[in-house]
Amino acid sequence: MAENPFFAPSTLPYELPPFAEIREEHYLPAFRRGMAEQLAEVEAIAGSTEPPTFDNTIAALERSGRILDRTATAFFSIASSNSSDGIMEIEKEISPELTRHSDSIRLDRALWARIKQVTTSDPEEAWLLQKYREDFIRAGADLSETEQARLRELNEELSRLSTEFAQALLKAATEAALVVEDPAELDGFEQSRIDSLRQDDGTYALPLLNFTAQPALSQLTNRDVRRRLFELSVGRAPGNFAIAARMAALRAERAALLGFPDHASYVVADQTAKTVEAVEEMLGQLVGPAVRNAGREAEELAGQAGFPIEPWDWPYYSEQVRKARYDFDDSAMRPYFELERVYRDGIFFAAGKLYGVTFSERPDLGGYHPDVKVFEVFEEDGSALGLFLLDPYARANKRGGAWMNNLVDQSLLFGLRPVVVNNLNVTKPASGPTLLTYDEVTTAFHEFGHALHGLFSQVRFPRVSGTSVPRDFVEYPSQVNEMWVTWPEVLANYARHHETGEPMPAELVEKLTAAEKFNQGFKTVEYLAATLLDWAWHRLAPGEEVADAEAFEAAALERAGIAVPQVRPRYRTNYFAHIFASGYSAGYYSYIWSEVLDAESVEWFKENGGLRRENGEHFRRELLSRGGSLDPLSAFRSFRGREPRIEPLLTRRGLD
Ligand SMILES: [Zn+2]
Repeated sequence: MAENPFFAPSTLPYELPPFAEIREEHYLPAFRRGMAEQLAEVEAIAGSTEPPTFDNTIAALERSGRILDRTATAFFSIASSNSSDGIMEIEKEISPELTRHSDSIRLDRALWARIKQVTTSDPEEAWLLQKYREDFIRAGADLSETEQARLRELNEELSRLSTEFAQALLKAATEAALVVEDPAELDGFEQSRIDSLRQDDGTYALPLLNFTAQPALSQLTNRDVRRRLFELSVGRAPGNFAIAARMAALRAERAALLGFPDHASYVVADQTAKTVEAVEEMLGQLVGPAVRNAGREAEELAGQAGFPIEPWDWPYYSEQVRKARYDFDDSAMRPYFELERVYRDGIFFAAGKLYGVTFSERPDLGGYHPDVKVFEVFEEDGSALGLFLLDPYARANKRGGAWMNNLVDQSLLFGLRPVVVNNLNVTKPASGPTLLTYDEVTTAFHEFGHALHGLFSQVRFPRVSGTSVPRDFVEYPSQVNEMWVTWPEVLANYARHHETGEPMPAELVEKLTAAEKFNQGFKTVEYLAATLLDWAWHRLAPGEEVADAEAFEAAALERAGIAVPQVRPRYRTNYFAHIFASGYSAGYYSYIWSEVLDAESVEWFKENGGLRRENGEHFRRELLSRGGSLDPLSAFRSFRGREPRIEPLLTRRGLD
């Protein structure tokens, strides 16, 4: 019988996980052996009779758990982008065990006693040591035995609930789909789209995407169908309301155990924001202007429609106004946004101009699905940098949205170079080229910004590799990369007609940029409403139970001054996966917090001549290459030469 492929390092280039050899039955044994191996390693560190040093304690911890790391990295990547019933079962089984495992390391008293004695004068080591201390304190290392026992219970229950929440959502995407019998109800869609929605039983099913305002709302001409689709969207996975309320209560209890007034205060303490007041001050500057903007937009849309509009009408009529005012038509743009060309002549091209890197496809290296492409990335001098995997297409077994993750963390400690993946959810055409919408092009540049953060990482320790920075900082480099989407030299290079090769006509390009500030009131309110909802759930005091989650939601939006009747939050509680199924609880504010830094940086690039090699080098050296190996705001200051200011963001969003 073949050995479990996770037991030894991969022999593929860059230690790319050997997906062709990995089978579902390998995961559980590898997880369990990995945890056992790491516990033995940690016991040896904690029980050492040598005086504690950085190397025999912190670096030794960084060196521990290699099997577990390899297994978890591959497994969670697959669980997000290529899941199955078997994978979901494994996830359910292993999640609480993993929580227990990490608790048993961070609540190990002998280990904690040694960590407290370590000293170092090296700045990178000192920063990592500080991170370890924070991690341990925040995990409860200083609590009594009884308190720690309760903490372990809370963590396990939270991990179980979070898996349940995510799995209910994945099921709801198809189970709560809009089903129609008469294809005439789908008027507004292209015929090929209608055909692709046809089921074996002759009905047509439109699956739900993972946010409130389904993109189809901008096309469907039948108002009643739009209302039905919208109601399915906001009402999906109703069992998740109770799960969310329970999770919020458990998180508040955990925060109290750890000495914080609420979960939000606990979360932001190790972010760049540091305090709830800082977050609330920034959000407070945005709510009023955003609501006024959205109000103006709603009036304009009512004028276009001839009646007061409802939330399910907004995307449809805003698309009409956009067409009328800017003559902006997504379907007229799409022939100029062909997927491969967008990457080769847009995303890779811009990275080449800025950072000198080149990309070469490696068809000999396999991903976990035939649609995944693998590229080797080279420096300007031809030396090898890492691997970039692209998984562009939507699948029923892939979670919604777009994201980046690492398959191998760069670290000098192990001499490992980075392997990173970008996931998108583009609909795969039945045949012919894949044409993208403008939004999808922007998302592709965004995710690639995360990929660069991972690829350029040049740090010693895996704990702080690449995108291992605070959540309210991590979106910043990816948002900066969006600036190249419409940068004239880049756009001219990639936006070419997929059949004729003709560049996008100048008038279309003008429309593209002229429409940039359009609908910003809606977008900002939709985002802020979700942010303030996240915030309300996580500022609950310990013991404050929410019996009716829907009523709580409505009251929270009202209280925050963000309850615009025609604009619902981008996510409601029942499908707010960011905060109940992944790591963004009390952290959804991060996107706009990061955007302050992003808007500042875009201004810097523009002041310095834009797409130039020296500019890329400066950004890479001061910021991208540093990962989480120093205080992120000091990296920003080294790059920008000053403290961040909010004004460039206000201008960009039309809020000044
Ligand atoms: Zn992002």
